[in-house]
Amino acid sequence: MTKFSDLNLSPKVLKAVEEAGYETPTPIQEGAIPHALDGKDVLGIAQTGTGKTASFTLPMICKLARGRARARMPRSLVLCPTRELAAQVAENFDTYSKYVKLTKALLIGGVSFKEQDQLIDKGVDVLIATPGRLLDHFERGKLLLTGIEIMVVDEADRMLDMGFIPDIERIFSLTPFTRQTLFFSATMAPEIERITNTFLSAPARIEVARQATASETIEQGAVVFKPSRKDREGSEKRKVLRALIDAEGEACTNAIIFCNRKVDVDVVAKSLKKYGYNASPIHGDLDQSQRTKTLDGFRNGDVRLLIASDVAARGLDIPAVSHVFNFDVPSHAEDYVHRIGRTGRAGRSGKAFTICTPRDEKYFEAVEKLLQKEIPRLDNPVAEAPAPAPVEAREDTPKDDTRKSSRSRRSDSDKGDSRPSRSKDSGRSSDRRSGGGRDKTVVGMGDHMPEFIALSFEERRAS
Ligand code: AMP
Repeated sequence: MTKFSDLNLSPKVLKAVEEAGYETPTPIQEGAIPHALDGKDVLGIAQTGTGKTASFTLPMICKLARGRARARMPRSLVLCPTRELAAQVAENFDTYSKYVKLTKALLIGGVSFKEQDQLIDKGVDVLIATPGRLLDHFERGKLLLTGIEIMVVDEADRMLDMGFIPDIERIFSLTPFTRQTLFFSATMAPEIERITNTFLSAPARIEVARQATASETIEQGAVVFKPSRKDREGSEKRKVLRALIDAEGEACTNAIIFCNRKVDVDVVAKSLKKYGYNASPIHGDLDQSQRTKTLDGFRNGDVRLLIASDVAARGLDIPAVSHVFNFDVPSHAEDYVHRIGRTGRAGRSGKAFTICTPRDEKYFEAVEKLLQKEIPRLDNPVAEAPAPAPVEAREDTPKDDTRKSSRSRRSDSDKGDSRPSRSKDSGRSSDRRSGGGRDKTVVGMGDHMPEFIALSFEERRAS
């Protein structure tokens, strides 16, 4: 078996790797490091959790240890799709360059321009950035990319999803033709293929097994259920989620709960908190200090349940997650693999549960097709799914009651368990998103105001 000591890394880097507790390189490291050290371009097809970060940081540190940075001309550049990922890459550099003198700067949103400008002015060996922020600095004339010797693109497929490809192309064109490029992507979409064909020169291609095939330590299950009514789908799903968490008891030391939409991330987090769970949301609309605080809390165990969107969670390195809950089935089957890959890392066991309603079924089929296996169906842990109230009975209810807004009525269906009761307006936020709800029993317009009502008369008159 190959060891790190067989890879030609410098003794100082080797020492730092040993101290981090790693002896054996992962397949992407074993495949990429020797080529990167040789100065070749590398195309790594690997996703997060495979050890890909060290597969570029280690050779970069060895190579950059020789030579010195010049003012405003960074010697290497690592592009990441999200701030969190960039911060994580920066941490990796800190860990492995412990015994090597290297300077680095992090250009991400939420970090002040001034501080970073000062660092860049002095000259940095490694610049780690998100594409937008890098171009902001460049356009302000604070930065030259003509000294880049090594350029890394990390999680290119996510960059594609986030619309960063034009920025990446521009950045490539601002760096010297002679640079070495290390390019990582979990998948090879045609657009990614095009970029690699254009900007990489005879790359060594290293493809490592998808996590889908390596996730045998993850126990998976799905609760397939039909909400009693369309407008109760949200609250009933939250109830199923609580029951799933409760059923796991202490075995669920911490969990990430994934939602497809940002608005649901907030709704689910608020609802869980209301029911007494230790939960916090993370998504792209939160400011940087809040995201960092939440993540730190989750890493050190102060936060037990992290409710996340796919983008926010992508690339986050949280080693010991006991459970993943999919509040929704992701619409891209690949995301399912990413999500459940948050648990069961490095040979640990983990559990991943998915809530699936009829509208998710086609996505669920796509997931099973991708995994090439059936995900076991679980019984609905909510002992008795609330039965739909007969329409006649509702129509007979006293006037006062029928005037109750659809919001408050919907929130009632959350009340079916023994958790602490909620404050008066508690249903509001958690039900903002509830689906269609256009059945006979919804009185008034509920959340669904026809668009024309919102139009200004002034505007109409003018037009
Ligand atoms: P990454 O794919 O870079 O996000 O890395 C995933 C996790 O694997 C991180 O927690 C790394 O610290 C860890 N890791 C990196 N290299 C190794 C290795 N050779 N052996 C075991 N774990 C590793």
